[in-house]
Amino acid sequence: MISGPSGVGKGTIINRLFELDDNLYFSVSATTRQPRPGEIDGVHYSFKSVEQFEHDIETGEMLEHAVFSGNYYGTPKSAVEKKLAQGKDVVLDIEIQGAENVKKLMPEAVLVYILPPSIEELKHRLIGRNTEDEESLNKRFHTAYRELNKAPELYDYFIVNDMVETAAVKIIDILEGERCSKNAMQEILKKLLEEAETLA
Ligand code: ADP
Ligand code: 5GP
Repeated sequence: MISGPSGVGKGTIINRLFELDDNLYFSVSATTRQPRPGEIDGVHYSFKSVEQFEHDIETGEMLEHAVFSGNYYGTPKSAVEKKLAQGKDVVLDIEIQGAENVKKLMPEAVLVYILPPSIEELKHRLIGRNTEDEESLNKRFHTAYRELNKAPELYDYFIVNDMVETAAVKIIDILEGERCSKNAMQEILKKLLEEAETLA
């Protein structure tokens, strides 16, 4: 799961991750916010009305959901479960409350928080993206402060997004490390041990 203050560069880094690793699957979130220019329904987000979103919550189709900057955001459950069952590493771009909820449901999830090189640079990036009005900018800065306060308790890794390439490669390194972890290797270890019994 990848989190970080709005405008830090999560989307930009995630795009690069998919060029670097072909075992990844991007979980397309549902949201009630308006599409930005260039965003495609079903690719960047599934854009829904509040009624549709609330219906999906009630019918249990969301793994988690949260309100961010006055809009609903949520992770559709079935796609995530299907891709995990296929052995894919699922990437979620998710705010902190959602990350905390997913971690409770899936303790093996790895939580990465992206940091800006400075707060000045964060402001520069978010304003420079030119996607938010004054009210949305203020809400996002306010939320960034709250998230940065809470993140140290929850996240496993912190990566400063100075250069996109360096940050993306660090996430790939984390993934590779996690793929060799005791938990991830359990099946292989078990199988080898069973085979080794024939030697004993
Ligand atoms: P987020 O998904 O975290 O809201 P974006 O990926 O949309 O952030 O990035 C916000 C803006 O910052 C975009 O205009 C993007 O091109 C720019 N950006 C991202 N990473 C960097 C970086 N390392 N250096 C400079 N600008 C960056
Ligand atoms: P944006 O509007 O900038 O695309 O996203 C706003 C925030 O919503 C970001 O912090 C992003 O990580 C988060 N977000 C995107 N999808 C989801 C989701 O499915 N669930 C939750 N909880 N947060 C999400």
